[in-house]
Amino acid sequence: MCGIVGFTARQPMSVRVLIDGLKALEYRGYDSCGIALKQKDGLLVQKVKGKVSGLEEIIDPSITGICGIAHTRWATHGEPSVINAHPHQMEHVTLVHNGIIENSEELKQELQSKGYVFHSQTDTEVACAVIDDLSKAYTDKIDILHKAGFILKGSYAFAIMFDDEPNTIYAVRKDSPLILGISDNASYLASDASAFLSETSLIMDLEENEVARLYNGEIEIYDINCALIHRSAYKSTLSLSDIQKDGYDTFLLKEIHEEPAVIKKTIHHYLQQSLLDLEQTMPDLSSYNRFVFIGCGSAMHAGMIGCRLAGKYARILCSAELASEFRYSDPILSADTLCIFVSQSGETADTLAAMRLCKDKGIDTLAVVNVLGSSLAKEAKFTLYTQAGKEISVATTKAYTSQVCVLALLVLKKAMQENLLSIEQQNIMENQLKTLPLLIRDFMSNTNVERFAKHIENAEHAFFIGRGLDYALSLEGSLKLKEVSYLQSEAYAAGELKHGTIALIEKGTPVIALITDPMLKDKTLSNIKEVQARGACVLLMIREDLYTPSIEADETILLPALSDIMQAVASVVPYQLMAYYVAKKRGCSIDQPRNLAKSVTVE
Ligand code: GLU
Repeated sequence: MCGIVGFTARQPMSVRVLIDGLKALEYRGYDSCGIALKQKDGLLVQKVKGKVSGLEEIIDPSITGICGIAHTRWATHGEPSVINAHPHQMEHVTLVHNGIIENSEELKQELQSKGYVFHSQTDTEVACAVIDDLSKAYTDKIDILHKAGFILKGSYAFAIMFDDEPNTIYAVRKDSPLILGISDNASYLASDASAFLSETSLIMDLEENEVARLYNGEIEIYDINCALIHRSAYKSTLSLSDIQKDGYDTFLLKEIHEEPAVIKKTIHHYLQQSLLDLEQTMPDLSSYNRFVFIGCGSAMHAGMIGCRLAGKYARILCSAELASEFRYSDPILSADTLCIFVSQSGETADTLAAMRLCKDKGIDTLAVVNVLGSSLAKEAKFTLYTQAGKEISVATTKAYTSQVCVLALLVLKKAMQENLLSIEQQNIMENQLKTLPLLIRDFMSNTNVERFAKHIENAEHAFFIGRGLDYALSLEGSLKLKEVSYLQSEAYAAGELKHGTIALIEKGTPVIALITDPMLKDKTLSNIKEVQARGACVLLMIREDLYTPSIEADETILLPALSDIMQAVASVVPYQLMAYYVAKKRGCSIDQPRNLAKSVTVE
């Protein structure tokens, strides 16, 4: 969510460092952008509504500067506009901000009474004035930013320039990501390392409430007591090819095609020889009698799958909860509960707040995250990393499937600890786990999902139906379609449709049905008949061994027959491809859908 990039250098550097940095952060989602570059003759500030390409149109690419900060904004306070875009300036201070200042309204009134005049609708301009106001009373910048931390409530990552230290950038963060980079001649800061990866892969963490001072290509870090500390740099695991499309037209398509490799890597990370490896690679689950899966969006759908599998295989009491609801629900949790938090970025604000709530109650927490060293990973009692690598498309694909993989392995571990998985079942699972990546690869190259997409691309709305695990998968399929193609769609437990929503089915309405459970097959087929009787165009995905030619549908895709644990990983792939094809046909911005952000660091 939003992107920040900045640098200081020994010699003037091209403005392209900032522009290219912003481009690398575009995937995070934004609506406007801007830069501030310190040149010999003063500070150049440029902002536009819309894309970074708009900035490129108004900025001479040959200009250079000794330091600069830049920002892509995802509006929280005030519409996307040039005035609301960052950097914001207040007398002696120029800054960019990611996050939300929750007490900005009351602070604004106080500052107005001191004579500050605000031009934008943003909370950020208020933060800028708070820091400027402090700089009138105090001189030491570290002290000023430390004090600002007590005044500003909410979440923030700031990159700040002061008029009286024109070649220096200060950085501070609380509940928003910010990372530092260092090369021979320059120092960098950014929301993530991809912004400066073409300059350096040597990175340094900035922890909560610490202040960094970047000057002349150097970095100093001050702890929460304003004491200078030593922080070692380390090499980022990110490579340039992780942030390139590698011949695909979009990151979404590239990342869907990476899924077989990602699934293989994720499984291999936890299981080299047999399922018994899980004893070592995953935490001991024997003392827990209840699992609560918590997440937002696709991560919540992965949690729903984990929940259904845990109920079935480990016979454990479990539920799946939306983080944004759970955290305000005064949840009843007992000491034998393990709360499992799922998030790609590990920075999702609601999920993080939900985890902190559980920790305050003394409940054990486990994070399933993709980003190494992210806040959820650091704060959880146990962390299981997914092995999806960098995911750039805002709509998640490979990170989601690797979350499902990790949760499935976790469930298998618990089932084995409870002696609920026979040796025969274990052997079947092991074999399927080994062949799963190849199977998905073959399936992906043979199946003709485009046929499905053609029935949907001009529709006004679409419905996804399924029962049990297929319902959870339908929710993810529907979300993917909405996110990237802007087509209104809903997922329903197949038995639920007739309780109201069937009123919306008319001639030609696409209904995408999923059948992978032999026990529930006939029930879902009945629901298919019900919508067909009302004119629906039925697009059916069914496990090949459950299919008979007497089953009628406008289009049918046969899925490989797998146990439900593996099915939960594999069956989402056609949905992802379908969303891609529909979005492409409708001319949508596939990698950066409107209004969406990659890592949702606001509540
Ligand atoms: N709350 C700030 C704004 O609306 C920053 C948003 C962001 O993180 O981009 O301008």
